[in-house]
Formats: sequence, C-alpha cells, structure tokens
Amino acid sequence: MRTLCVNENTRKTLKKHFSDNLYFDEFLRNHTSFRVGGPADIFFKPGSVDKLSSFLNIIKDEKIGYFVIGNGTNILFADTGFRGAVIQLSEPAFRTVEINLDSVICGSGTNMTELAYQTAKKGLSGCEYMAGLPGSVGGAVMTNAGAFGQDIGSVIEKVESVTERGNHAISEKDDIVFGYRNCNLSRRGIVITRVYLRLAKTDSKTADNRIKEFLDNRERGYIGASNAGSVFKNPGNLSAWKLIDSAGLRNVRIGGARVSDKHANVIINEGTATSRDIKNLIEIVQLKVFERFGIGLEPEIKIIPEVLDA
Ligand SMILES: Cc1cc2nc3c(=O)[nH]c(=O)nc-3n(C[C@H](O)[C@H](O)[C@H](O)COP(=O)(O)OP(=O)(O)OC[C@H]3O[C@@H](n4cnc5c(N)ncnc54)[C@H](O)[C@@H]3O)c2cc1C
Repeated sequence: MRTLCVNENTRKTLKKHFSDNLYFDEFLRNHTSFRVGGPADIFFKPGSVDKLSSFLNIIKDEKIGYFVIGNGTNILFADTGFRGAVIQLSEPAFRTVEINLDSVICGSGTNMTELAYQTAKKGLSGCEYMAGLPGSVGGAVMTNAGAFGQDIGSVIEKVESVTERGNHAISEKDDIVFGYRNCNLSRRGIVITRVYLRLAKTDSKTADNRIKEFLDNRERGYIGASNAGSVFKNPGNLSAWKLIDSAGLRNVRIGGARVSDKHANVIINEGTATSRDIKNLIEIVQLKVFERFGIGLEPEIKIIPEVLDA
C-alpha cells in the first residue's frame, strides 16, 4: 500500500479553500502525452494567480512538495505517481493572449499552436514554428522549446511567476539564461504565470505561409502513437536519432514501449506500456549507444521520481 503524504486534516483544509479545482489521487496518465503515470496525491488546477499563491502558501506550511505541469508533453511520471501536489495551469485565467503592436503577453497555459495562429493573424513573426507543437507556453519556456532552428528563448522579454512561498516575481530578459532545451528558471522552483514576448513585424499572409510550411514538415514525421517527442538531447553536433538508429535500436521493444520505426529518438507507448517499461527502454538505449559509440545520451524528457523534496 502506498504512503500518502497528505493527512486527512490537510485534505479538509485544501478542500475548504479550493474545492472546485482540486482532485485527490488523480492519475497522471490522464495528463501526459505518454499516457502513463500513477496517481498524484493532490492535483490542482488554480482558477487565478491569487488561488495559486494561497495554495502554495498552505502546502509550504504543510511541507508538501509540488511539481508544475503544462500539457505534460515532455514528462515521464512514475507508475507509483507523485507524492505531493501536481499543479496544472490550464484554466482560462492562464490562457489569455494580449497583442499590442509587436508585443505579446500570454498566460503560461496557452497552447503553443494557439499562440502561433494568433500572432500570425496579427502579422507578427517568431512563433510560426510553434504550430503543431503540443506543449504550453510555460512548459516551452522551462524547456526552451524549439524547432527548425528557432526557439522560444530568442523572443522572450519577461516572465512573471509565483514563488514557492506564493509571492509574485518577475524575471527580466537579462536574468534568464536559455540553453539547449533548458532554462535557468527551472532551478528556482517557480510557477510561471505569464510570459512576455517581442516579435518581428511581417504580414499575416507571410506568417500563415510559414505556418503551413512548418506543419507540412511536421506531418511528414508524424508518429501517431502516444509519445513525448524526442527522448534524448542531441549530443553536441551529433543527432541522437542517428546514433540510436546506427546501434540497431529502431523498433526495439520492452513491454508496451517501443523505439519508433518512424523516428528513432522517439519512444512510443503502444497502449499497454508502464512508466517502468519506458524507463527500462531508455536505459537500454543509453547502454547500447554507449557500448557502440562511447557516447552517453542525456534525456530531454523530464523523468519524475516518486518523491521530490518538500
Ligand atoms: C508529438 C510531440 C512533438 C514534440 N515536438 C517538439 C519540438 O519540436 N521541439 C521541442 O522543443 N519540444 C517538442 N516536444 C516536447 C514538448 O512539447 C515541449 O518540450 C513543450 O514545450 C513542453 O510543454 P508542456 O506544456 O507539455 O510542458 P510539460 O511537459 O508539462 O513540462 C515540461 C517542464 O516544464 C515545467 N513547466 C511546465 N509548465 C510550467 C509552468 N507554468 N511553470 C513552471 N514550470 C513549468 C515542468 O515542471 C517540466 O519541468 C514534442 C512533444 C510531443 C509529444
């Protein structure tokens, strides 16, 4: 039997304050693109920044750890789930998009595809490649999501967030360091609430055409089964998929998890995979690539262990 980290009194307190958007023992497989992951003790979808702040304050006092998700498209949660609170910013208050000339302010829960279309419609360029990307803008900032030689870090002006104590914080462009699929904000335990971008001016027809080109490109590589995009980062100038392919690992399977035959850097859930299957397959790929080429592949996806520190 698993040990709950949330006692009955805390449950009652949380229910009293946040009843509408609070769930207990919610399966994370319902919130991740891999479609795996056991129950989170608490699953919270705040309806406003104030609710988020007071929730964080309460759980801090109760020594309950938390983890934030956007659309869960870059995460592998354990089969045992998550001991603590998982917070998802998907309510309407976190999905607003305001566009004024070349400046865009959007809620962190906004879908990247939505942002691509809305900015293109206003004749702005810089987000077209996001069309077809399944993540949220908050997740994109934390992972510095990118494609076709572009990334979100290059258009960010400012990020608003809430700290683990529930205080509001602002990170200006100069304070944010973006790297290859990472960002220094991820070490601060903050919850991103709003993102400010500055885009280049173009016309809506040109931006629309670019979206079509990017989407055509994506459709050619369409995988069609539950997955979390690229599993491994490219090591230096090499392609992770080429190394995996050359090591003969395409189509290798463990349980219900398989290395995709369409893209060797993608692991798919064939429908019955557990997180353990996926994790084991990740380790096999790392081992075989290391044995063959002496190169250690580093996961791009976030693998979330059962217990995180409060
Ligand atoms: C089919 C497919 C194709 C993909 N293609 C690409 C691609 O071309 N390029 C690319 O870069 N990625 C790609 N991805 C991966 C993924 O979509 C991106 O990394 C995306 O930006 C993650 O967004 P998310 O909202 O799903 O974040 P999640 O997976 O939910 O979270 C990712 C990380 O961000 C953190 N986080 C999320 N929201 C917040 C927030 N509001 N505040 C604080 N922390 C937060 C989480 O704690 C976690 O550490 C693809 C995934 C799939 C399934």
